[in-house]
Amino acid sequence: MSADLDGLVAVVTGGASGIGAAVATTLQRRGARVAVLDRDPAGAPAGTLAVRADVSDDASVRDAVATVVRELGRLDILVNNAGVGAQGTVADNPDDEWRRVLDVNVLGAVRVSRAALPHLRRSPSAAIVNTGSIAATAGLPQRALYSASKGAVLALTRAMAADHLPEGVRVNCVNPGTADTPWIGRLLAHADDPAAERAALEARQPHGRLVDPQEVADAVAYLASPAAGSTTGTALAVDGGMNDLRLRPR
Ligand code: NAD
Repeated sequence: MSADLDGLVAVVTGGASGIGAAVATTLQRRGARVAVLDRDPAGAPAGTLAVRADVSDDASVRDAVATVVRELGRLDILVNNAGVGAQGTVADNPDDEWRRVLDVNVLGAVRVSRAALPHLRRSPSAAIVNTGSIAATAGLPQRALYSASKGAVLALTRAMAADHLPEGVRVNCVNPGTADTPWIGRLLAHADDPAAERAALEARQPHGRLVDPQEVADAVAYLASPAAGSTTGTALAVDGGMNDLRLRPR
């Protein structure tokens, strides 16, 4: 693996588990120094700077970004990955639940970006990569709130790309399909027969398996890297074809 991120500093929110941990490890392998901002940082990969931070708390975010810049000296790459799920239709989730999820999935990315931008603007190779979801575009049943939150992440990505290109900051997102992370493990654990539920979930993927978090991490690392220097405002689907209705299993 090339050390194309040598000398750069990256922040990965939600980097102590699942997709974020794979991203943090991959960026490190490619030469970046990485800080993980997580409300539960115990699982941050070895070698990262683990900072306890809650993206739904502005003071916590500002303190965490200041800590990263004090400890690592600069900030070049921001991966807004921390997220929480929600199930149900609009008939199911009360306002408080909407506020809780939007506060993490949408405002969380806004807060960390706001704190990071003054530092990113000074980088010759600045990039923000947001973790969206197939839920942003696919019209998944029983996921109204989660889908709305990830649709907002997609719109935010495009708007921020336009706003910050003149400042030299590229903004893209990766939209994973169902990825094999502790998040999915927690969902399956609630099923009557977790193994059967997992098999059913795999059968619903066009490519017959769950997405490997490493596949998402490699896409994030590409968009964060100088190799993607002409790419901004895009959403890269890493979903086994799930977003294409023609490829979805019938
Ligand atoms: P995960 O639960 O394994 O990891 C999420 C991490 O985010 C955890 O370490 C958690 O502590 C952290 N986090 C949650 N709320 C936080 C907050 N308020 N402040 C700071 N940290 C917080 O989940 P994952 O599957 O790796 O998901 C990561 C991202 O990928 C999320 O944005 C999720 O919406 C998105 N995503 C996941 C899937 C999937 O199938 N797993 C699919 C599409 C998109």
